[in-house]
Amino acid sequence: MKTQPKPPHIFLTIDVEQDCPPYLNTFRGITEGMIPLLSLLRQEEVKATFFVTGQIAKDFPDVIRSLITHGHEVGSHSFDHCNYTALDRQSAQRDIERSLETLRQFGPVYSFRAPYLKFPQSYLDLLSQAGLAIDSSQAKYKPTYLENPRPTTLRRIPASITSSVLRLPDWIRNPWLGALASPVVLFVHPWEFVDFRQANIPFDCRFKTGTMAIACLREVIHFYQKRNFQFRKMRDVLNEHSDVEQGVATTHSGGKRPYPT
Ligand SMILES: [Zn+2]
Repeated sequence: MKTQPKPPHIFLTIDVEQDCPPYLNTFRGITEGMIPLLSLLRQEEVKATFFVTGQIAKDFPDVIRSLITHGHEVGSHSFDHCNYTALDRQSAQRDIERSLETLRQFGPVYSFRAPYLKFPQSYLDLLSQAGLAIDSSQAKYKPTYLENPRPTTLRRIPASITSSVLRLPDWIRNPWLGALASPVVLFVHPWEFVDFRQANIPFDCRFKTGTMAIACLREVIHFYQKRNFQFRKMRDVLNEHSDVEQGVATTHSGGKRPYPT
């Protein structure tokens, strides 16, 4: 008997932090950008994973509560958007614990993404020790992705493409999106939905920010919906029991295999 092929998967993830780190220290993404973003996700019936810094959760607790109420997942994005490659092991451990201490006041946290998608492989055990199950700190488009993977019990779900690509004209963007293998992992930031076109930040951070970025994200969601992609939250993978599903290797209890490169 023929089995139906499973639909391809996409994870829409949002890194919730101060505006355009390390260039700005404002929080307009939280106070302004989150509103159209959450409304877009509600209209499109998409549930997402929000990687939030502990600092944001501490300073804007209502925002975190509203994410949870709307059925989104909250993961950790460090405490204050540090670069873990510049921290010694003890400081990295302290930061992870501090972030989780704050975030877990709102509910369970299983997923993690390091700021700047930079996390030393030698610190991976700190994440599992802290009770995390999923790491999304790798990026398929960075050279570090080619490093030999260390054995870990964590599920590793790398980002597929950088966020500014989503704001490119559709004739450039769509062939790129169409070439990404399932599971597709996209990420955006709330500050991209605030008009920072005149801000003193790098061009790729500021072009087409504001309402145009919301329009682009809507088009991207439609692009994948039309192609029958299923939108998932990171923690959904914890309920899977097959060894390899849509390119994501599992390392559930008993599995010792690291994520394949
Ligand atoms: Zn970040």
